[in-house]
Amino acid sequence: MEIVILIFAFLFGLAWGSFLNVVIYRVPEGVSLLRPRSFCPVCGNKIKWYDNIPLLSYIILRGRCRYCGAKIPLRYPIVELWTGLTFVFLWKNFSAFPLEMARGFVFTTLLIVLAGIDSWKMLLPDIFTLPGIAAGVAFSFFLPPGPKSSLLGAVLGYISLWLVYKIFLLLTGKEGMGYGDFKMFAMIGAFMGVKQLIPVILVSSLAGVIVGLGIMIFRRKREVVLPYGVFMGLGAWVLYVFKIDLFKLYIGAVL
Ligand SMILES: [Zn+2]
Repeated sequence: MEIVILIFAFLFGLAWGSFLNVVIYRVPEGVSLLRPRSFCPVCGNKIKWYDNIPLLSYIILRGRCRYCGAKIPLRYPIVELWTGLTFVFLWKNFSAFPLEMARGFVFTTLLIVLAGIDSWKMLLPDIFTLPGIAAGVAFSFFLPPGPKSSLLGAVLGYISLWLVYKIFLLLTGKEGMGYGDFKMFAMIGAFMGVKQLIPVILVSSLAGVIVGLGIMIFRRKREVVLPYGVFMGLGAWVLYVFKIDLFKLYIGAVL
C-alpha cells in the first residue's frame, strides 16, 4: 500500500511543480497567475493540455515548443521533478505529524519558487521572502525549534549574510550578493531555527563551489556569477526534508 501512496504523492507533486513553474515565470514578469492560459513566450501559441503534462511533455517534445521549436528551459522539468520528489519525502518523513507536514509543504514550496526565480532572474522577490519569514516564526510557536530559536534564526540569518556581503565588498569591490539573499536566509533561519544556519551555509556553499568549478572547467570560463538563492534553496531543502542534523552527526562522529 505504501508504494501506491508514494506514487500518488509523486504525481501530486508533479502537478504542484507544474503550477510552481507558472509562478516562477509569471510573478517576476508581472503577469497574472490565472490568465491568460499557458503560452509559448517566443511564438505566443497557446500550449495544449497534452503538451502541458509534467515531465512527460518535456521528454516527448524533446525540450522544444511544438510550433516554433524554441527551447523550453531545463528549469521546467527540473522544478517538476524536484517538487515531485519533495512530496514523496515529505510524506515519508512527516506524515505522522500533520502540522509538521503543513510546514514542510509551505517551506519547500517557498524554497523551490525562490530558487526557480533566482535561477533565471537573479532575483528573490520580497513577496515570497517576507511572508516566508512570518510563516516560519508562526509555525515555530507550535513546533520545534520554538519561537526563540526561530526569531533568532531570522535575525542572525539576515545579519550574518549582510556581514559577509559587506566584507566581500570591502575586499574585492564587488557585490557578491543582494538584499534578497539576506531575506531568504532569514526565512530559512525562521523555519529551521538558529542552530541550522551554519549547516545550511556549509551545504549550500559547497554545492555552489562544485557547480561553479564545474562551469569554469567545462565551459572554460574564468569567472561565473551564480544565483546564490538556488544553492541556499537546495542546501536548506536537503537538510530539512531528510531531517539531517549536521551537529548531531558531527558529535556522533567524535564520540
Ligand atoms: Zn513557440
